[in-house]
Amino acid sequence: MGSRREVLGIGAGMAALGLAPGLASRAFAADRKIGYAPADRKIGYAIVGLGYYATRQIMPNFAGCENARLVALVSGTPAKLEQYGSEYGILPSHRYSYDQFDRIRDNPDIDAVYIVLPNSLHAEYSIRAAQAGKHVLCEKPMATSVAECQAMIAASRKAGKKLMIGYRSRFEPYNRLAIELARGGHVGPTRLITAEHGFPIQPGQWRIDKALSGGGSMMDIGIYSLNAARYLTGEEPVEVSAVESTDRSDPRFRTVEDRISFVLRFPSGIEANCISSYSSAHNGYRVIGTQGWIAMEPATPYVGQTMTIRKDGVTAPRTLPPPARNQFAGQLDHLAECILKGTTPIVAGEEGLADMRVIEAIYRSAAERRHIEMTT
Ligand code: NAD
Repeated sequence: MGSRREVLGIGAGMAALGLAPGLASRAFAADRKIGYAPADRKIGYAIVGLGYYATRQIMPNFAGCENARLVALVSGTPAKLEQYGSEYGILPSHRYSYDQFDRIRDNPDIDAVYIVLPNSLHAEYSIRAAQAGKHVLCEKPMATSVAECQAMIAASRKAGKKLMIGYRSRFEPYNRLAIELARGGHVGPTRLITAEHGFPIQPGQWRIDKALSGGGSMMDIGIYSLNAARYLTGEEPVEVSAVESTDRSDPRFRTVEDRISFVLRFPSGIEANCISSYSSAHNGYRVIGTQGWIAMEPATPYVGQTMTIRKDGVTAPRTLPPPARNQFAGQLDHLAECILKGTTPIVAGEEGLADMRVIEAIYRSAAERRHIEMTT
């Protein structure tokens, strides 16, 4: 490894790639644009569902937020309310069971509710939160059907409250730079995107129970391939085709799919070849243009994104300085700032709905073994 400056990718190697020195800083400027202006008042969040993602990834990251703070917890397990309530200094009056959920209406400290429950509960709790007069941040997938997504959007509109989906990669600097480079034609106009996401699913969890998950790998991890194809192009697919491959004798896959390979065709002619899997380990995407490619592998982990660019025959890593805020704090602060400033989240409910429309088309294509045209 060379000097820190080289490690940060500001040196001659970058010039050889034709990367303007300001590019990384523009990505960070863009981060500032999506906004972390310190506010007079921090937005108070209630976390609903104290499982793995909420307790290990989200709650510890309030410490890095400028505009957001954790003020309330909702759980069906009194011991968790006690444990995390004490750990995070949550007032006993701000700890709720699911039966008491609607009482959040009477708690002015709660501005926003973050839904971190199994997928089939997202719509119900998002809608009840909006009806209680609260803004909503809901985990991906937004829900388990287009109809549920539409009902969530309608409820938040009726309440005059924000609805945002937990697409954390949109607050992660490498993914933000990849968007800028891909859409800006850095390796020439994009012709092809490949995107792969998967992991071997462990038995005995709600993710493989369709009643709770709404579907298999596509709902859970394949959505990262789909969402990346959409954010790297900035376009909506006009045609979808998919092939499913699931060993139904495997007890993990009694009700949900394992692997789905899908192709998205975009209006500009870009094609995305994507994989979603519950039986093999993948995490990456590649944007291929006329002059080279931008590879992100891994692309969407919690930490450790790695970018490599090949342009005009030169291959080099692209390394960014650590961001002021990680992707988790970034998304919490973003909704908070949208609330404070009256602006719309960059990943509002419509973004989750757009993914769900494609997921439904992917399932239909695989089931009916034909291409599906997306109608607007
Ligand atoms: P988890 O199983 O660890 O947690 C789910 C929580 O929901 C548990 O505390 C459980 O007790 C509670 N729960 C309430 N009602 C339940 C019911 N009827 N059945 C089962 N559990 C119930 O799951 P997780 O990994 O934390 O995932 C929660 C959500 O977060 C999912 O929508 C998932 O897609 C999403 N998630 C997102 C990311 C990301 O990187 N954005 C990562 C992990 C999970």
